[in-house]
Amino acid sequence: MNSDGQPLPISWRSVRDGVYVTTLEPAGANCGLIVGTSGAVLIDTGSSPAQGTALRESIALLTDVPLRSVVVTHHHWDHAYGLGAFADVETIGHESLAETLLSEGARTAAAEHGLSPADVVVPSATIAIIAARDLGGIHVEIGYFGAAHTGGDLAVLVPEARVLFAGDIVEQSGPPQIDETTSLQNWPRVMEALLTLCKEDTIVVPGHGEDVDPHFISWQGTGLDAVHGQCEWLVTQGVREPDAYAHPDLQWPWDEEWVRTAIAHAYAELAGQGRTVRRPLLIAERRPPEAT
Ligand SMILES: [Zn+2]
Repeated sequence: MNSDGQPLPISWRSVRDGVYVTTLEPAGANCGLIVGTSGAVLIDTGSSPAQGTALRESIALLTDVPLRSVVVTHHHWDHAYGLGAFADVETIGHESLAETLLSEGARTAAAEHGLSPADVVVPSATIAIIAARDLGGIHVEIGYFGAAHTGGDLAVLVPEARVLFAGDIVEQSGPPQIDETTSLQNWPRVMEALLTLCKEDTIVVPGHGEDVDPHFISWQGTGLDAVHGQCEWLVTQGVREPDAYAHPDLQWPWDEEWVRTAIAHAYAELAGQGRTVRRPLLIAERRPPEAT
C-alpha cells in the first residue's frame, strides 16, 4: 500500500530469459511468469480477486502474448485466492485443490482476509502427477511429488531457463510453514525429488523470500528430516510430546515456537500410523507366581 492506501503497482523482475518474479504483499508471496513467443503462464494468483486483476494488468503491460494458463501451487490464501480474476483462462491445480478450497477451513481463511466465500474459486483443470505447456521457445513442466507443505503442492520447472518454482515446499524468508495438511514425514522426500530436477546453476524461486540455489533445498530438507526423525526416536523412547522439545540429547534446527508446532504435528502424524508413546513396562514389578 502507498500513503493513500492504494495498492502499489505490480512490477516484475527478470530472473532469466522469459522468466519473471514478483513478490506480493501482504504476505510476501512470490508469483512467477513465464513468457514464450506464443503464450505465457502465471504461477500463483495473489491473495484476492482484486490482486489477481492487478496481476493481469501488469502482465498485459509486460508482454503482448496471451496468458494461456495459471498454475496454483497450493491452496493457501496468499497463493490461491486471486483465482477469481482468471475465469476466462485455464487454471491448473492439484486434484485435491478443489476440495481444499471449498473446505470450512478455506471459508474461514477467506473471512479472516476480508473476502466472502464466493471470492474463493476452484481451478478449471486438475492434475494428478504431471503436465506440460508449450509457450513457444520455452515450456513449463508442472509436477506433483506427494504431500509436503500441504497435501497438494505443485512445483513448476522451466527447463530451458533452468528455473524451478517450488511454491511453499521451499521458503527462504523463514522456516517452512506447517498446516493441518502438511506431511512432515514425506516433505524431505519431496525435496529430494525437486533436487533431481535441478542442475548446478538452477535458480530456485521459493514461495516466500529470495531466490536460492539447489543446495538450499538440501539444507532445508535435512532440517525437516531431522525434526521428523527425532520425533520418531522420541516416540520409541517413550518421551511424551510436552517433554520432547527440552530433551537433553537433542538439538533442533529452528526456533522454539516453530519446533513445538512441528513436534505436535509429527506426534499426531505418527499417532495416525499407530505409533504412539507407551508407558514403559514395569518389569521390576513382574514376579513369577509364588510356588504353592
Ligand atoms: Zn503456503
